[in-house]
Amino acid sequence: MIYYKTDSEIELMKISNLMVSKTHAAIAHMMKPGTKTIDIDKVAEEFIRDNGGIPGFLNYNGFPNTLCISVNNQVVHGIPSKYELREGDIVSVDCGVIMNGYNGDSCYTFAIGEISDEKKKLLKVTREALYKGIEQAKVGNRIGDISYAIQKHAEENGYGVVRELVGHGIGKKLHEAPEVPNFGRQGKGIKIKKNLTIAIEPMINMGRKEVRQSSDGWTIYTLDKLPSAHFEHTIAIKKDKTEILSNFDIIDEEVKKIN
Ligand code: MG
Ligand code: MG
Repeated sequence: MIYYKTDSEIELMKISNLMVSKTHAAIAHMMKPGTKTIDIDKVAEEFIRDNGGIPGFLNYNGFPNTLCISVNNQVVHGIPSKYELREGDIVSVDCGVIMNGYNGDSCYTFAIGEISDEKKKLLKVTREALYKGIEQAKVGNRIGDISYAIQKHAEENGYGVVRELVGHGIGKKLHEAPEVPNFGRQGKGIKIKKNLTIAIEPMINMGRKEVRQSSDGWTIYTLDKLPSAHFEHTIAIKKDKTEILSNFDIIDEEVKKIN
């Protein structure tokens, strides 16, 4: 069952998603060598609560923290810990916020200090793949058009597209129908109708597509131990235009100030 939103529901979702991006912006200054990932999580939780939000991931299916922080060969669902960030790491920070009963969900992958050219390219291509997917997210297209655009861009660059985890509808619930895979075929899947709200989230591996789950029950790792990147926006597909509800610009601005 797909829940199409009213315009006013989309306005509420804009608020929760902007809070997710503001949270990313608020922790950006911590993205340097020596920071413990658990400390980033604490700052994020406090920031969300201070601004009247509820951390959307905390206790979701038992997840223990506010953020999923996944470093290097961790793909997604990394649990914040005493791990100290190191020069050259890439760190995906997935964040959810509930405000006014609606979920926001967005992920941004940060670079710690100077990273290798290979990792720079992985971040660039993953982010591009997200926007190529968003370009296809319009009324009359099908979910497969989004999936295909993401997969094509990633694979043309020699990368592996994770199969086990996918994007999703979003609203009152964090995960709603439909699934939005990062792989698929043009013209397949459900037809996109107006006021569909979805999270598009390519998880792209530098090497092979295969992943494994850690014994902690959460963290997903690449099987070949090569790095993985993850960017995610929540979007609303309106009749004539698609609106991106989360916002990378305000994060980029803070990232520029780090180095
Ligand atoms: Mg997410
Ligand atoms: Mg998501």
